[in-house]
Amino acid sequence: MKPLLRACPICRGDRGEVLHTQQFDLPDDDPLPREYDVVACATCGFAFADTPAPQSTYDAYYAARSKYEDRTVGTGGGDNPFDRDRLESLAGFLAAHVPWRDRPVLDLGCANGGLLQGLSRHGFTRLVGVDPSPGCAANVRALGFDGHVGGLFAGAGLGRFGLVSLTHVLEHVRDLDAATGALRSLVDDDGLLYVETPDAAGYAGCLRAPFQDFNTEHINHFTRRSLEGLLGAAGFAPVASGEKVFDAAPDVPIPAVFTLARRVASPSVAAPAYDQAAVDRVREYVARSSAELRRIDALIAPHLDGPIQVWGTGQLLFKLLHDTSLGRARVVAWLDNNPKLQGSMLRGVRVLRPADAVPGVPILIASTLHGPAIAAAARALGLDNPIIQLGAAAPRG
Ligand SMILES: [Zn+2]
Repeated sequence: MKPLLRACPICRGDRGEVLHTQQFDLPDDDPLPREYDVVACATCGFAFADTPAPQSTYDAYYAARSKYEDRTVGTGGGDNPFDRDRLESLAGFLAAHVPWRDRPVLDLGCANGGLLQGLSRHGFTRLVGVDPSPGCAANVRALGFDGHVGGLFAGAGLGRFGLVSLTHVLEHVRDLDAATGALRSLVDDDGLLYVETPDAAGYAGCLRAPFQDFNTEHINHFTRRSLEGLLGAAGFAPVASGEKVFDAAPDVPIPAVFTLARRVASPSVAAPAYDQAAVDRVREYVARSSAELRRIDALIAPHLDGPIQVWGTGQLLFKLLHDTSLGRARVVAWLDNNPKLQGSMLRGVRVLRPADAVPGVPILIASTLHGPAIAAAARALGLDNPIIQLGAAAPRG
Protein backbone atom coordinates (compact mmCIF):
# COMPACT_ATOMS: atom_id res chain seq x y z
CA MET A 1 0.00 0.00 0.00
CA LYS A 2 1.15 3.53 -0.66
CA PRO A 3 -0.26 6.99 0.05
CA LEU A 4 -1.85 8.26 -3.16
CA LEU A 5 -0.91 11.42 -5.04
CA ARG A 6 -4.49 11.52 -6.30
CA ALA A 7 -7.35 10.58 -3.96
CA CYS A 8 -9.62 7.80 -5.23
CA PRO A 9 -12.14 9.54 -7.52
CA ILE A 10 -14.89 7.12 -6.43
CA CYS A 11 -14.60 6.96 -2.61
CA ARG A 12 -11.92 9.59 -1.73
CA GLY A 13 -9.65 6.84 -0.36
CA ASP A 14 -6.07 8.04 0.13
CA ARG A 15 -4.20 4.71 0.02
CA GLY A 16 -3.80 2.25 -2.81
CA GLU A 17 -2.04 -0.87 -3.98
CA VAL A 18 0.28 -0.56 -6.97
CA LEU A 19 -0.91 -2.98 -9.70
CA HIS A 20 1.60 -1.80 -12.28
CA THR A 21 4.08 1.02 -12.84
CA GLN A 22 3.71 2.37 -16.35
CA GLN A 23 6.49 4.32 -18.00
CA PHE A 24 6.49 6.11 -21.35
CA ASP A 25 9.33 7.51 -23.46
CA LEU A 26 7.44 10.45 -24.92
CA PRO A 27 8.36 13.00 -27.61
CA ASP A 28 10.17 16.03 -26.24
CA ASP A 29 7.15 18.32 -26.64
CA ASP A 30 4.63 16.03 -24.91
CA PRO A 31 3.56 17.61 -21.58
CA LEU A 32 2.03 14.47 -20.02
CA PRO A 33 3.74 12.49 -17.23
CA ARG A 34 6.42 9.97 -18.25
CA GLU A 35 5.51 7.64 -15.42
CA TYR A 36 2.61 6.80 -13.12
CA ASP A 37 1.44 3.91 -10.96
CA VAL A 38 -1.79 2.16 -11.85
CA VAL A 39 -3.27 1.60 -8.41
CA ALA A 40 -6.29 -0.14 -6.89
CA CYS A 41 -7.91 1.97 -4.17
CA ALA A 42 -7.45 0.18 -0.82
CA THR A 43 -11.04 0.95 0.15
CA CYS A 44 -13.14 0.33 -2.98
CA GLY A 45 -10.74 -1.36 -5.45
CA PHE A 46 -11.22 1.25 -8.20
CA ALA A 47 -8.23 1.08 -10.58
CA PHE A 48 -6.78 4.35 -11.80
CA ALA A 49 -3.57 6.15 -12.73
CA ASP A 50 -2.08 7.82 -9.68
CA THR A 51 -0.90 10.59 -11.99
CA PRO A 52 1.33 13.36 -10.64
CA ALA A 53 -0.06 15.86 -13.19
CA PRO A 54 -2.88 18.28 -12.31
CA GLN A 55 -6.01 18.64 -14.44
CA SER A 56 -4.54 21.82 -15.97
CA THR A 57 -1.75 19.78 -17.62
CA TYR A 58 -4.32 17.51 -19.26
CA ASP A 59 -6.41 20.53 -20.29
CA ALA A 60 -3.39 22.12 -22.01
CA TYR A 61 -2.53 18.84 -23.75
CA TYR A 62 -6.05 18.33 -25.15
CA ALA A 63 -6.41 22.00 -26.12
CA ALA A 64 -3.21 21.81 -28.18
CA ARG A 65 -4.22 18.50 -29.74
CA SER A 66 -7.71 19.58 -30.73
CA LYS A 67 -6.28 22.25 -33.01
CA TYR A 68 -5.25 19.47 -35.36
CA GLU A 69 -8.46 17.46 -35.39
CA ASP A 70 -10.19 16.97 -38.71
CA ARG A 71 -12.37 14.40 -40.39
CA THR A 72 -9.48 12.06 -41.06
CA VAL A 73 -8.31 11.55 -37.48
CA GLY A 74 -10.00 10.78 -34.20
CA THR A 75 -13.07 8.66 -33.60
CA GLY A 76 -16.67 9.18 -32.72
CA GLY A 77 -17.58 11.00 -35.86
CA GLY A 78 -19.53 8.22 -37.46
CA ASP A 79 -17.31 8.62 -40.50
CA ASN A 80 -16.23 4.99 -40.83
CA PRO A 81 -18.57 1.96 -40.96
CA PHE A 82 -17.57 0.74 -37.48
CA ASP A 83 -18.17 4.14 -35.89
CA ARG A 84 -21.45 4.39 -37.74
CA ASP A 85 -22.65 1.00 -36.46
CA ARG A 86 -21.65 1.78 -32.88
CA LEU A 87 -23.33 5.19 -32.83
CA GLU A 88 -26.44 3.92 -34.63
CA SER A 89 -26.83 1.19 -32.04
CA LEU A 90 -26.33 3.71 -29.23
CA ALA A 91 -28.96 5.99 -30.79
CA GLY A 92 -31.34 2.99 -30.88
CA PHE A 93 -30.66 2.23 -27.20
CA LEU A 94 -31.33 5.84 -26.18
CA ALA A 95 -34.48 6.05 -28.32
CA ALA A 96 -35.80 2.89 -26.63
CA HIS A 97 -35.27 4.33 -23.13
CA VAL A 98 -36.31 7.95 -23.66
CA PRO A 99 -40.09 8.46 -23.90
CA TRP A 100 -39.99 11.94 -25.48
CA ARG A 101 -38.48 13.42 -28.66
CA ASP A 102 -39.01 17.19 -28.25
CA ARG A 103 -36.73 18.09 -25.36
CA PRO A 104 -33.17 19.33 -25.93
CA VAL A 105 -30.39 16.71 -26.16
CA LEU A 106 -26.67 17.47 -25.73
CA ASP A 107 -23.84 15.26 -27.01
CA LEU A 108 -20.68 16.37 -25.19
CA GLY A 109 -17.66 15.42 -27.31
CA CYS A 110 -19.81 15.05 -30.41
CA ALA A 111 -16.88 14.70 -32.88
CA ASN A 112 -18.40 15.01 -36.35
CA GLY A 113 -21.98 14.41 -35.22
CA GLY A 114 -22.40 10.66 -35.70
CA LEU A 115 -24.61 10.19 -32.64
CA LEU A 116 -26.63 13.34 -33.36
CA GLN A 117 -27.41 12.01 -36.84
CA GLY A 118 -28.55 8.70 -35.36
CA LEU A 119 -30.80 10.45 -32.83
CA SER A 120 -32.23 12.63 -35.58
CA ARG A 121 -33.24 9.52 -37.52
CA HIS A 122 -35.06 8.34 -34.35
CA GLY A 123 -37.10 11.56 -34.32
CA PHE A 124 -35.26 13.72 -31.78
CA THR A 125 -35.66 17.31 -32.87
CA ARG A 126 -33.53 19.57 -30.61
CA LEU A 127 -29.98 18.29 -30.99
CA VAL A 128 -26.89 20.10 -29.72
CA GLY A 129 -23.24 19.06 -30.01
CA VAL A 130 -20.15 20.37 -28.20
CA ASP A 131 -16.62 19.41 -29.21
CA PRO A 132 -13.13 20.80 -28.46
CA SER A 133 -12.34 20.85 -32.17
CA PRO A 134 -13.57 23.92 -34.11
CA GLY A 135 -13.61 21.74 -37.24
CA CYS A 136 -15.96 19.26 -35.59
CA ALA A 137 -18.28 22.00 -34.32
CA ALA A 138 -18.41 23.43 -37.85
CA ASN A 139 -19.10 20.00 -39.33
CA VAL A 140 -21.97 19.48 -36.89
CA ARG A 141 -23.47 22.85 -37.82
CA ALA A 142 -23.17 21.96 -41.49
CA LEU A 143 -25.33 18.91 -40.73
CA GLY A 144 -28.03 21.26 -39.40
CA PHE A 145 -27.47 20.78 -35.67
CA ASP A 146 -26.50 23.32 -33.04
CA GLY A 147 -22.69 23.02 -32.70
CA HIS A 148 -20.37 24.66 -30.17
CA VAL A 149 -16.63 24.58 -29.51
CA GLY A 150 -15.52 23.53 -26.04
CA GLY A 151 -14.74 20.80 -23.56
CA LEU A 152 -16.59 19.22 -20.67
CA PHE A 153 -17.38 22.59 -19.16
CA ALA A 154 -18.53 24.28 -22.33
CA GLY A 155 -22.15 23.33 -21.73
CA ALA A 156 -22.46 26.05 -19.10
CA GLY A 157 -24.56 28.78 -20.68
CA LEU A 158 -26.32 26.42 -23.08
CA GLY A 159 -29.16 25.85 -20.63
CA ARG A 160 -30.33 22.47 -19.34
CA PHE A 161 -31.16 19.32 -21.24
CA GLY A 162 -33.53 16.38 -21.10
CA LEU A 163 -30.64 14.10 -22.06
CA VAL A 164 -26.87 14.56 -21.98
CA SER A 165 -24.55 11.99 -23.53
CA LEU A 166 -20.84 11.60 -22.81
CA THR A 167 -19.07 8.64 -24.42
CA HIS A 168 -15.40 7.73 -24.00
CA VAL A 169 -14.50 10.95 -22.20
CA LEU A 170 -14.48 10.31 -18.43
CA GLU A 171 -11.54 7.87 -18.69
CA HIS A 172 -9.46 10.94 -19.69
CA VAL A 173 -10.46 13.20 -16.77
CA ARG A 174 -8.33 13.67 -13.66
CA ASP A 175 -10.79 15.73 -11.60
CA LEU A 176 -13.92 13.64 -11.85
CA ASP A 177 -15.78 15.57 -9.12
CA ALA A 178 -15.64 18.74 -11.17
CA ALA A 179 -16.72 16.78 -14.25
CA THR A 180 -19.76 15.15 -12.64
CA GLY A 181 -20.71 18.47 -11.04
CA ALA A 182 -20.65 20.10 -14.46
CA LEU A 183 -22.76 17.27 -15.89
CA ARG A 184 -25.33 17.64 -13.12
CA SER A 185 -25.73 21.33 -13.87
CA LEU A 186 -26.60 20.45 -17.49
CA VAL A 187 -29.32 17.90 -16.82
CA ASP A 188 -32.98 18.81 -16.11
CA ASP A 189 -34.31 17.91 -12.64
CA ASP A 190 -35.89 14.74 -14.06
CA GLY A 191 -33.47 14.47 -17.00
CA LEU A 192 -31.19 11.65 -18.10
CA LEU A 193 -27.43 11.25 -18.40
CA TYR A 194 -25.75 8.59 -20.56
CA VAL A 195 -22.11 7.82 -19.79
CA GLU A 196 -19.95 5.21 -21.53
CA THR A 197 -16.27 4.42 -20.94
CA PRO A 198 -13.90 1.51 -21.58
CA ASP A 199 -14.62 -1.47 -19.29
CA ALA A 200 -11.58 -2.45 -17.20
CA ALA A 201 -13.15 -5.84 -16.50
CA GLY A 202 -12.96 -6.51 -20.24
CA TYR A 203 -9.38 -5.36 -20.93
CA ALA A 204 -7.81 -8.82 -20.52
CA GLY A 205 -10.23 -10.38 -22.99
CA CYS A 206 -9.56 -7.71 -25.64
CA LEU A 207 -5.76 -7.51 -25.45
CA ARG A 208 -4.21 -6.40 -28.76
CA ALA A 209 -0.98 -4.76 -27.57
CA PRO A 210 0.66 -4.86 -24.14
CA PHE A 211 -0.80 -2.35 -21.67
CA GLN A 212 -2.71 -0.62 -24.48
CA ASP A 213 -5.29 0.61 -21.96
CA PHE A 214 -2.68 2.04 -19.58
CA ASN A 215 -1.74 4.90 -21.87
CA THR A 216 -0.93 8.54 -21.31
CA GLU A 217 -4.55 9.60 -21.87
CA HIS A 218 -6.64 6.90 -20.16
CA ILE A 219 -6.26 7.49 -16.43
CA ASN A 220 -9.49 5.98 -15.02
CA HIS A 221 -10.40 2.28 -15.37
CA PHE A 222 -14.12 1.96 -14.75
CA THR A 223 -16.25 -1.10 -14.26
CA ARG A 224 -20.02 -1.15 -14.04
CA ARG A 225 -19.89 -0.87 -10.26
CA SER A 226 -17.44 2.05 -10.13
CA LEU A 227 -19.23 3.95 -12.89
CA GLU A 228 -22.55 3.58 -11.06
CA GLY A 229 -20.81 4.60 -7.82
CA LEU A 230 -19.38 7.75 -9.39
CA LEU A 231 -22.73 8.79 -10.85
CA GLY A 232 -24.62 7.88 -7.68
CA ALA A 233 -22.42 10.17 -5.61
CA ALA A 234 -23.14 12.93 -8.13
CA GLY A 235 -26.91 12.54 -7.78
CA PHE A 236 -27.81 10.18 -10.62
CA ALA A 237 -29.74 6.92 -10.16
CA PRO A 238 -29.08 4.17 -12.75
CA VAL A 239 -31.92 3.38 -15.17
CA ALA A 240 -30.03 0.88 -17.36
CA SER A 241 -26.41 -0.24 -17.12
CA GLY A 242 -24.34 -2.90 -18.77
CA GLU A 243 -21.19 -4.05 -20.49
CA LYS A 244 -20.64 -4.47 -24.21
CA VAL A 245 -17.85 -5.04 -26.72
CA PHE A 246 -17.87 -3.06 -29.96
CA ASP A 247 -15.52 -3.16 -32.92
CA ALA A 248 -13.57 0.07 -33.51
CA ALA A 249 -12.10 -1.48 -36.69
CA PRO A 250 -11.65 -5.01 -38.04
CA ASP A 251 -10.25 -7.16 -35.19
CA VAL A 252 -10.23 -4.21 -32.78
CA PRO A 253 -12.75 -5.13 -30.07
CA ILE A 254 -13.24 -2.42 -27.43
CA PRO A 255 -14.78 -3.47 -24.10
CA ALA A 256 -17.13 -0.78 -22.81
CA VAL A 257 -19.33 -0.16 -19.78
CA PHE A 258 -22.33 2.18 -19.84
CA THR A 259 -24.93 3.68 -17.54
CA LEU A 260 -28.07 5.59 -18.39
CA ALA A 261 -29.04 7.40 -15.18
CA ARG A 262 -31.76 9.78 -14.04
CA ARG A 263 -30.98 12.93 -12.10
CA VAL A 264 -32.37 12.65 -8.57
CA ALA A 265 -32.69 15.19 -5.75
CA SER A 266 -29.88 13.87 -3.54
CA PRO A 267 -26.73 11.82 -4.03
CA SER A 268 -26.59 8.22 -2.88
CA VAL A 269 -24.05 7.80 -0.10
CA ALA A 270 -23.58 4.04 0.13
CA ALA A 271 -20.44 2.99 2.01
CA PRO A 272 -17.91 1.73 -0.56
CA ALA A 273 -17.36 -2.03 -0.72
CA TYR A 274 -14.11 -3.46 -2.12
CA ASP A 275 -14.64 -4.69 -5.69
CA GLN A 276 -12.41 -7.76 -5.60
CA ALA A 277 -13.65 -9.09 -8.94
CA ALA A 278 -12.65 -5.87 -10.72
CA VAL A 279 -9.19 -5.89 -9.14
CA ASP A 280 -8.71 -9.54 -10.18
CA ARG A 281 -9.63 -8.71 -13.79
CA VAL A 282 -7.10 -5.84 -13.89
CA ARG A 283 -4.42 -8.11 -12.40
CA GLU A 284 -5.13 -10.65 -15.15
CA TYR A 285 -4.70 -7.87 -17.70
CA VAL A 286 -1.34 -6.88 -16.20
CA ALA A 287 -0.14 -10.50 -16.29
CA ARG A 288 -1.25 -11.00 -19.91
CA SER A 289 0.30 -7.68 -20.97
CA SER A 290 3.60 -8.57 -19.29
CA ALA A 291 3.71 -11.90 -21.13
CA GLU A 292 2.98 -10.10 -24.39
CA LEU A 293 5.84 -7.64 -23.76
CA ARG A 294 8.23 -10.58 -23.25
CA ARG A 295 7.05 -12.15 -26.52
CA ILE A 296 7.70 -8.88 -28.39
CA ASP A 297 11.07 -8.36 -26.70
CA ALA A 298 12.21 -11.78 -27.92
CA LEU A 299 11.27 -10.76 -31.48
CA ILE A 300 13.14 -7.44 -31.30
CA ALA A 301 16.33 -8.57 -29.57
CA PRO A 302 17.95 -10.42 -32.54
CA HIS A 303 17.80 -7.25 -34.70
CA LEU A 304 19.83 -4.87 -32.56
CA ASP A 305 23.34 -5.48 -33.88
CA GLY A 306 23.08 -2.76 -36.51
CA PRO A 307 21.08 0.45 -37.00
CA ILE A 308 17.29 0.25 -37.37
CA GLN A 309 14.44 2.62 -38.02
CA VAL A 310 11.01 2.34 -36.46
CA TRP A 311 7.67 2.92 -38.17
CA GLY A 312 4.91 3.98 -35.76
CA THR A 313 5.41 6.53 -32.98
CA GLY A 314 2.30 5.83 -30.93
CA GLN A 315 1.51 4.57 -27.44
CA LEU A 316 3.02 1.12 -28.10
CA LEU A 317 6.41 2.58 -29.05
CA PHE A 318 6.52 4.74 -25.89
CA LYS A 319 6.27 1.52 -23.87
CA LEU A 320 8.58 -0.63 -26.01
CA LEU A 321 11.34 1.95 -25.64
CA HIS A 322 11.10 1.71 -21.91
CA ASP A 323 10.25 -1.92 -21.31
CA THR A 324 12.04 -3.90 -24.05
CA SER A 325 15.49 -4.13 -25.63
CA LEU A 326 14.31 -1.59 -28.21
CA GLY A 327 15.47 1.02 -25.70
CA ARG A 328 19.09 0.00 -26.48
CA ALA A 329 18.64 0.04 -30.26
CA ARG A 330 20.61 2.38 -32.52
CA VAL A 331 17.58 4.11 -34.08
CA VAL A 332 18.48 6.33 -37.05
CA ALA A 333 14.94 7.49 -37.88
CA TRP A 334 11.35 7.33 -36.68
CA LEU A 335 8.71 7.05 -39.39
CA ASP A 336 5.07 8.06 -39.07
CA ASN A 337 2.24 8.87 -41.46
CA ASN A 338 0.72 11.40 -39.08
CA PRO A 339 1.72 14.88 -40.31
CA LYS A 340 1.40 16.38 -36.84
CA LEU A 341 4.14 14.03 -35.54
CA GLN A 342 6.54 14.48 -38.45
CA GLY A 343 9.39 16.79 -37.50
CA SER A 344 9.08 16.22 -33.75
CA MET A 345 12.01 14.76 -31.81
CA LEU A 346 12.13 11.54 -29.83
CA ARG A 347 15.38 10.63 -28.06
CA GLY A 348 17.21 13.19 -30.20
CA VAL A 349 16.06 11.55 -33.45
CA ARG A 350 13.58 13.16 -35.82
CA VAL A 351 10.22 11.71 -36.94
CA LEU A 352 10.16 11.49 -40.76
CA ARG A 353 7.60 10.82 -43.46
CA PRO A 354 7.76 7.09 -44.31
CA ALA A 355 8.72 8.04 -47.87
CA ASP A 356 11.93 9.54 -46.42
CA ALA A 357 13.02 6.26 -44.78
CA VAL A 358 16.78 5.61 -44.76
CA PRO A 359 17.64 3.20 -47.62
CA GLY A 360 18.88 -0.24 -46.64
CA VAL A 361 18.30 0.09 -42.88
CA PRO A 362 15.77 -2.45 -41.48
CA ILE A 363 12.35 -1.05 -40.54
CA LEU A 364 10.77 -2.31 -37.33
CA ILE A 365 7.00 -1.83 -37.33
CA ALA A 366 5.90 -0.76 -33.84
CA SER A 367 2.34 -1.99 -34.16
CA THR A 368 0.82 -5.39 -33.53
CA LEU A 369 -2.53 -4.93 -35.19
CA HIS A 370 -1.51 -2.83 -38.18
CA GLY A 371 1.80 -4.58 -38.90
CA PRO A 372 0.75 -6.31 -42.13
CA ALA A 373 -0.97 -3.18 -43.49
CA ILE A 374 2.06 -1.01 -42.71
CA ALA A 375 4.40 -3.54 -44.36
CA ALA A 376 2.21 -3.39 -47.47
CA ALA A 377 2.26 0.42 -47.36
CA ALA A 378 6.07 0.37 -47.17
CA ARG A 379 6.29 -1.80 -50.27
CA ALA A 380 3.75 0.41 -52.04
CA LEU A 381 6.06 3.39 -51.37
CA GLY A 382 8.83 1.45 -53.10
CA LEU A 383 10.78 0.84 -49.87
CA ASP A 384 12.75 -2.40 -50.19
CA ASN A 385 14.24 -2.34 -46.66
CA PRO A 386 14.11 -5.50 -44.55
CA ILE A 387 10.94 -5.35 -42.42
CA ILE A 388 10.57 -6.63 -38.84
CA GLN A 389 7.02 -7.28 -37.66
CA LEU A 390 5.83 -7.85 -34.09
CA GLY A 391 3.06 -10.30 -34.89
CA ALA A 392 -0.30 -10.47 -33.12
CA ALA A 393 -1.03 -10.92 -29.44
CA ALA A 394 -1.62 -14.53 -28.42
CA PRO A 395 -5.30 -15.39 -27.93
CA ARG A 396 -6.56 -15.51 -24.36
CA GLY A 397 -5.37 -18.77 -22.77
ZN1 LIG B 1 -11.91 4.10 -3.68
